[in-house]
Amino acid sequence: MSLQGIKARIAAAAEQAGRAPESVSLIAVSKVQPDDRVRAVLDAGHRVFGENRVQEAAGKWPGFRDAFGPVELHLLGPLQSNKARQAMELFDVIHSLDRLKLARTLARLADELGRCPDLFIQVNTGAEPQKAGVLPDDADTMVAECRALGLPVLGLMSIPPVDEDAARHFKLLADMATRNGLSGLSMGMSDDFETAIAHGATHVRVGSAIFGAREPA
Ligand SMILES: *Cc1c(COP(=O)(O)O)cnc(C)c1O
Repeated sequence: MSLQGIKARIAAAAEQAGRAPESVSLIAVSKVQPDDRVRAVLDAGHRVFGENRVQEAAGKWPGFRDAFGPVELHLLGPLQSNKARQAMELFDVIHSLDRLKLARTLARLADELGRCPDLFIQVNTGAEPQKAGVLPDDADTMVAECRALGLPVLGLMSIPPVDEDAARHFKLLADMATRNGLSGLSMGMSDDFETAIAHGATHVRVGSAIFGAREPA
């Protein structure tokens, strides 16, 4: 477990970019990790975690929250409408708002529940057919439509194509956020979080660099 090392690298990258280290939130991505590794990071005092699947998160986080107190939980993976209610009850932030139909479902449930997680709209900056997210050309409209629904949109999220220069995608996303008046930028993972911070990331999602490689279940 190398939580402290990652935090130090985040602080250094922030300072190099002329930013306050506190302006970058570290989301420890605990998907598929064995419980003892997650517990070690909780024991070290970290309280911001990310998961990809509602079902998996529902299986482990109520117990961890009972044992460790409040934990800020972020949903990073695709969300099916039929899991939206459960996701809204479990997560504090959802990074994978990727279509208008889901936005409408979240708005309806927010009325019903009287609360709504903070939201990031996921943008498929590489326009990859297999990847979730709105296309770059549709992002401005999606932001406007989500705002019209009264949803708390914090910012934009993206997962750049693996075989491309991530910096270009981070810049594209940052420009998109700026022109839409959004301050949140969820970008950067184990291999590129320092580059993401240089381009303005406010939320970096780091899994394997903290917990070690994910082993298949
Ligand atoms: C798994 C995952 C991460 C973390 O990836 P690492 O390479 O282990 O840091 C970040 N964001 C999303 C959306 C993920 O699915």
